[in-house]
Amino acid sequence: MGSYANGSTCANEDSPLAEEMKEPAFPSKTMSLHANGWLNDMKISSPTAVRVNIGNPGAFDPIYRDWTKKYPSALNAFGKIVAYGKGKKTVLFLDYDGTLSPIVDDPDNAIMSDQMREVVRNAALHLPTAIISGRSCDKVFDFVKLTELYYAGSHGMDIIGPIGKSGSVTDHRSCSNSSAKQDKEVKIFQAASEFIPMIDEVFRLLIEKIRGIDGAKVENNKFCVSVHYRNVNEKDWPIVARCTDDVLKAYPRLRLSHGRKVLEVRPVIDWNKGKAVEFLLDSLGLADSDNVLPIYIGDDRTDEDAFKVLREDKRGFGILVSSVPKESHAAYSLADPSEVMDFLKRLVKWKEEEAFK
Ligand SMILES: [Mg+2]
Repeated sequence: MGSYANGSTCANEDSPLAEEMKEPAFPSKTMSLHANGWLNDMKISSPTAVRVNIGNPGAFDPIYRDWTKKYPSALNAFGKIVAYGKGKKTVLFLDYDGTLSPIVDDPDNAIMSDQMREVVRNAALHLPTAIISGRSCDKVFDFVKLTELYYAGSHGMDIIGPIGKSGSVTDHRSCSNSSAKQDKEVKIFQAASEFIPMIDEVFRLLIEKIRGIDGAKVENNKFCVSVHYRNVNEKDWPIVARCTDDVLKAYPRLRLSHGRKVLEVRPVIDWNKGKAVEFLLDSLGLADSDNVLPIYIGDDRTDEDAFKVLREDKRGFGILVSSVPKESHAAYSLADPSEVMDFLKRLVKWKEEEAFK
């Protein structure tokens, strides 16, 4: 098992976590600058869930109700949203975890319901729909199993398009080596693919490092590594931060970002979910059009880059999925995946009605 720079071991049998917490190792300079900052970010990114009343979140919670004055429910504001989108081409961008699937203890079990799958499929039949996730394309596709969508995995560094659709970014069936894919995605993949061996190395080191932390899990998402701590006792979060910091110190070309109860290690390149939205709009020939309404629905901090792009460009809406009040660049809110499903159903119904006018 690996060691801290100051010589203390990271969560192994000789050094039980409980003891580590009672007598924390003296932090190195890097750790105090980064890991402690990360710990704050981990707490900010992962607020303790205060359950609201599903179905009518604001009714009994004055704090939440107050928050929705700033971020109105996209269901309540539906009329306003579609009035803005009237006659425009609506493009839908969806995060996966916590947006289409519930946040669960084991990230491998973040399964979307059949009902949600059908709603998303129906949405994709009516309007261009993309899923933008921190997970790899292959992993998201395994969960979603819909061929009608665009998938932007690894925070958009890995983009594939609907099967057999002309004008799509790529063909999912030939995800790994299609020349068409290489032609279309060259500016993405040239930037990120050189990092794959480094990502693999960091993945192996992190597995070794956090092996003894109860509930922690490391996931290789091709262009990024995710360290999941949603199943880790909060008292052990500092150890997760320290272990990750320890590994990352040797990799200045990698950086850390925060999702919801997940630390994500990514290459230092100018790429994020916001860039992925711009890339996809561009690929679909919808980038400069005033007649386009992009809607992005997501639940965590990595989605903020996309919310920001839409807000700054004044050309669409971000919708934050959250059952607890938090600051966001989104314009609207939805409480949970079941409200996302209701919103998508209404959007499809509106599109169907519009088609008959
Ligand atoms: Mg999410």
